[in-house]
Amino acid sequence: MPNPCVTVDLGKLTHNTRLAVDMCRQAGLSVMAVTKAFCADPRIAGAMLAGGVEWLSDSRVQNLERMRRAGLDAPLCMLRLPMLSEVEDVVRVADMSQVSEVATAEALSRAAVKQGRTHKLTLMVDLGDLREGLLPQNILRAAEAMSRLPGVELYGLGVNFACYGGVIPTPAKLTELVELAGDIRRATGVALPLVSGGNSADLHLLPDGIPRGVTQLRLGEGILLGRETIAREPITGAHLDVFALHAEIIELQDKPSVPDGTIGQDAFGNTPIFTDRGVRRRGILAIGRQDVNVDGLEPVDPAVSIIGSSSDHLIVDLSDAQQPLAVGDTVSFHMRYGALIAAMLSPYVDKVMQ
Ligand SMILES: *Cc1c(COP(=O)(O)O)cnc(C)c1O
Repeated sequence: MPNPCVTVDLGKLTHNTRLAVDMCRQAGLSVMAVTKAFCADPRIAGAMLAGGVEWLSDSRVQNLERMRRAGLDAPLCMLRLPMLSEVEDVVRVADMSQVSEVATAEALSRAAVKQGRTHKLTLMVDLGDLREGLLPQNILRAAEAMSRLPGVELYGLGVNFACYGGVIPTPAKLTELVELAGDIRRATGVALPLVSGGNSADLHLLPDGIPRGVTQLRLGEGILLGRETIAREPITGAHLDVFALHAEIIELQDKPSVPDGTIGQDAFGNTPIFTDRGVRRRGILAIGRQDVNVDGLEPVDPAVSIIGSSSDHLIVDLSDAQQPLAVGDTVSFHMRYGALIAAMLSPYVDKVMQ
């Protein structure tokens, strides 16, 4: 295997997807898979499709394009509010966009008319998390304006939680969403078949905490890492090791745990502090902060610990490692979300499907 690399167990990913799809189906929900954490690699997105998701979605139009070109057989949704400067591409590549600005809906409408297409819109409402979405008191006016535009179909109402503000989705907040969808239907006469209740932060509400009338969840992290995202508790039956990161030992030496000399700033401008743990068996791995978010790494071997890192090096304490290790061997890690997105993006980290 090339090093460093991320291995992706596609069978386990399909299993996690099917588990989430079944949990959602029992609550009357369909699933839109979110592919942004892995740059929409079509092999990984394909494994999610095999698990039964109905839509694929991403926050970057380049990633949607990548899946479109790979011929994946699913409708595509642009998750991030489209930039005015990209509406032509968005309409060409995606079947639906999430929007909160009438000006953006108008630009999508013009692009859709020009291209002879119909583009779906999900209007986003902000129920407290303070990222995207109109406040509830501004929703009806925007919905009325959007429902009158040619080339676009006001198709859904959506909400997002636990992203900026960390606001936890509750049955009460989701009931407000369902009621707003009803208000929009009455005011505009549109069918509004989609009521999109949020992301993996909603998983903790299953099996029975999501009110009737919510029709969909948009799931990324929960499926990929097998945990709900409020307390990061494992989802029963899900694999927690779909992804693993492997890095190679380039130096393995017994060295003291405290540097020798006057300590100034490190490579990132911080002044490090050390605890004297005596002489330790220290490994240097050929991966660093340019490749991965080191705080999000967890050694697979619990007896291995991370000592520190610089741009291109990760220093680990291998004194108590369960296996005997030598230069040229690899050390493996589980990744939290921040580490996963960085590693999947790094061109220096190979992606190996298993
Ligand atoms: C990233 C994103 C999601 C998916 O979030 P996860 O926590 O990965 O499930 C859903 N909706 C929107 C708008 C997003 O940006």
